[in-house]
Amino acid sequence: MSLNAESTAFRSALEVIRAVEPRVADAIGAELADQRESLKLIASENYASPATLLAMGNWLSDKYAEGTVGRRFYAGCQNVDTVEALAAEHARELFGAAHAYVQPHSGIDANLVAFWAILADRVESPALKKAQVRQVNELTEADWFALRRELGNQRMLGMSLDAGGHLTHGFRPNISGKMFDQRSYGTDPATGLVDYDKVAEAAREFKPLILVAGYSAYPRKVNFRIMREIADSVGATFMVDMAHFAGLVAGKVFTGDFDPVPHAHIVTTTTHKSLRGPRGGMVLCGPELADQVDRGCPMVLGGPLPHVMAAKAVALAEARRPDFADYASRIVANAQALAEGLLRRGAKLVTGGTDNHLVLIDVSGYGLTGRQAEQALLDSGIVTNRNAVPQDPNGAWYTSGIRIGTPALTTRGLGTAEMDATAELIHTVLTQTTPGSNPDGTPSKAKYVLDPTLADKVSKQASDLLTGFPLYPSVNLA
Ligand SMILES: *Cc1c(COP(=O)(O)O)cnc(C)c1O
Repeated sequence: MSLNAESTAFRSALEVIRAVEPRVADAIGAELADQRESLKLIASENYASPATLLAMGNWLSDKYAEGTVGRRFYAGCQNVDTVEALAAEHARELFGAAHAYVQPHSGIDANLVAFWAILADRVESPALKKAQVRQVNELTEADWFALRRELGNQRMLGMSLDAGGHLTHGFRPNISGKMFDQRSYGTDPATGLVDYDKVAEAAREFKPLILVAGYSAYPRKVNFRIMREIADSVGATFMVDMAHFAGLVAGKVFTGDFDPVPHAHIVTTTTHKSLRGPRGGMVLCGPELADQVDRGCPMVLGGPLPHVMAAKAVALAEARRPDFADYASRIVANAQALAEGLLRRGAKLVTGGTDNHLVLIDVSGYGLTGRQAEQALLDSGIVTNRNAVPQDPNGAWYTSGIRIGTPALTTRGLGTAEMDATAELIHTVLTQTTPGSNPDGTPSKAKYVLDPTLADKVSKQASDLLTGFPLYPSVNLA
């Protein structure tokens, strides 16, 4: 692929869009310019390849393709079958999974597919068998009523939000919390690490139907072999949501006990975080749950997005290349360099470091809330997000943490030297920021004071750091 072809493709696309609604074309162009300028440390974001992006913008989007490969409820799905089968094949090969379902539109959707596959397998199927019928429409009103009550009365054990768990692992604001009776396991207050004895104890007491592992803000590895043993000891289905770290599994950084695929009954993921594909989701499982997982649409998902499945096939093909393993190991080396750079300058980090792609700074060490720190860094050209820390005294809105991740900057080509420079910039901003106060003189959790001259100076240094590492170097829109 010549550099020229990529520029031509995007330029032509924008020209076609501009003829209809120029403001959309302008916003797309402006997004590229903004992304090129920003020191993006958001742990859940990345930059998909031009081939992945282009695979999404076409007429595959025009097809309805409810059903699965070769078994569609609509005619004329042969090309959708081709791309869906390719995406699934690449996913199975990449992760060593028996089955891959590539239709979920996002990570949350993938989790819903997994939850309902487990409920169908463990609650609905036995009820149908007991009533000696083949499907739910054949149940009597009384049996159906009883089954619905049973489906809504199951238990889930997952990681607590402030330890880094995800809202979709049974928390009340999400549908999963309304569906399941949920309890969570936290981390050891002294070390910040998962305490497997405590997880086992909670599992013994609570007897969950589903034990969930996986996180959005935990900077360490999880031993999935031990978690599976715990699940087995109480008859729970073991599910891993690898949304954040799928790229590290794909790139063979997480292997053995730390690779969820051989240990979990079912694995869910996004495709757009460290995996570097299009915005979307995916479910991996063994043969036991495959049929139930394939019912994701129309069970909980709207019609498949064939253009996104095409892009998943492209991105997964990229992730199977040897250079992806190199990328994945550089993500972790960069996160560790960032952590070391921060620690050396006196920052307080949750768990004292990282084994993966993310670092969680406890900004109470700088006398700030997460919200103050996030805004001060943003003023200084550094894009991060605030995040709760374990036992956070400031709650989920203001928080006491800043989560930073390296997948995006690693894609851009930045290395450990630039990570140390980034640590210096972050530390400088946070030491120079002071908490503000409300009009009545009480301390504010949102307001802060940062000398605008310093913010400008750091912004300039941040953009200088990026100059040697052009984003989408093959794409010239000018
Ligand atoms: C990001 C994330 C999700 C949600 O993914 P979406 O694509 O935004 O729906 C689910 N689970 C975990 C652990 C995540 O980090």
